[in-house]
Amino acid sequence: MKKLITVLGATGSIGVSTLDVVARHPDRYGVFALTAHRQVDKLYEQCLAHRPAYAVVERAEDAVALQRRLDAAECRCDVLYGPAALCDVASAPDVASVMAAIVGAAGLPPTLAAARAGKRVLLANKEALVMSGALFMAEVDTHGATLLPIDSEHNAIFQAMPSGHARPLETGGVTQILLTASGGPFRSTPISDLPAVTPDMACAHPNWVMGRKISVDSATMMNKGLEVIEARWLFAAPAERIQVVIHPQSVIHSLVAYSDGSVLAQLGNPDMRTPIAHALAYPERIDSGVKPLDLFEVARLDFERPDFARFPCLALAYRALRAGGVAPAVLNAANEVAVAAFLDGHLRFDRIAAVIADVLDAVPDAAADSLEVVFAADREAREVAASRVRAYLAGARP
Ligand code: NAD
Ligand code: MG
Repeated sequence: MKKLITVLGATGSIGVSTLDVVARHPDRYGVFALTAHRQVDKLYEQCLAHRPAYAVVERAEDAVALQRRLDAAECRCDVLYGPAALCDVASAPDVASVMAAIVGAAGLPPTLAAARAGKRVLLANKEALVMSGALFMAEVDTHGATLLPIDSEHNAIFQAMPSGHARPLETGGVTQILLTASGGPFRSTPISDLPAVTPDMACAHPNWVMGRKISVDSATMMNKGLEVIEARWLFAAPAERIQVVIHPQSVIHSLVAYSDGSVLAQLGNPDMRTPIAHALAYPERIDSGVKPLDLFEVARLDFERPDFARFPCLALAYRALRAGGVAPAVLNAANEVAVAAFLDGHLRFDRIAAVIADVLDAVPDAAADSLEVVFAADREAREVAASRVRAYLAGARP
């Protein structure tokens, strides 16, 4: 029987790659629902191509317009709108797997709804786990959901882990997780040039084509910081067992070191369709459309230690992870506000880290023991971050 899939964030970079893999296997997979924020034209085209039972957008007026266009094209699809509809299509009984590929904190509620409904959750939305790791993992366990990482590094770690993923790490003989990072577009740019970085420069990643928010995160290396926190929760790994390794070629997607001296790695061309196909079919293997890796073409693999002075966002993420409680949610919220301000031309690139550091200092820590507490910290962090951005804009801060 065909497995039905909901793709949250279908119009984004991960959503498009997911639909590419799904369309290669019409005998295995069908599309239950596709969701988008405001890219209605793209969602319309996707509905015609993939024939979902439901489509979800943010605004009522967009839903009405999309429904009219789909009806006129004789495409049978019910168009819904708003955050509750996202949770509904993520938890509907007919759905087998949910691709969680909404960017940012907005992705947390529907991803959690999928976990609570016991679905196979294909997790791209790392911000959900950063905000509420302990709560999220507890929901996965309680409701018997299957959590499969889509982030290429975490998917690689998952593949290199002992089968069954014994917790704690020592039980499976794992001594260290080696999380690789390309270093982004500014790995060797003079630090004095960073204040002049523009959004287009920051979004020109050397190896990966991604959405704009994660592209900026890669340029500041906050992306790797969020991934350290993500790995902490996915693999029950303490911070001191997670080592970031700069590997500019992005061919090794991460490694796992064992007590007998073995180090297992997963390699491949940098194309998100590999982890997507892996998680869709796990434990089977299916064609993803990714070009086979040619080691002779790769020729060499380089490794460097991360430079915390060049990438202060990475140090801030470790700080938030060690602080625990709501600190990672505060870090994430401050980062979302700062990155959006940078992309809008309202904040200098090098001030993204300064805003986040200020917000971590300003928002009091608290135990992250309920989603209400997490979202309250998220809101407070966003307000403080926005006021810091305004102060920079007004020239009130040096
Ligand atoms: P993107 O910006 O290309 O797409 C984001 C999707 O989310 C779009 O479909 C958009 O319509 C939807 N969306 C945005 N805001 C929303 C809101 N408020 N409510 C509902 N929907 C909303 O982003 P992306 O690059 O595809 O990344 C998606 C997620 O996957 C992010 O969490 C990112 O960190 C993670 N991820 C991406 C990559 C990659 O290669 N692109 C790799 C690893 C992890
Ligand atoms: Mg990644």
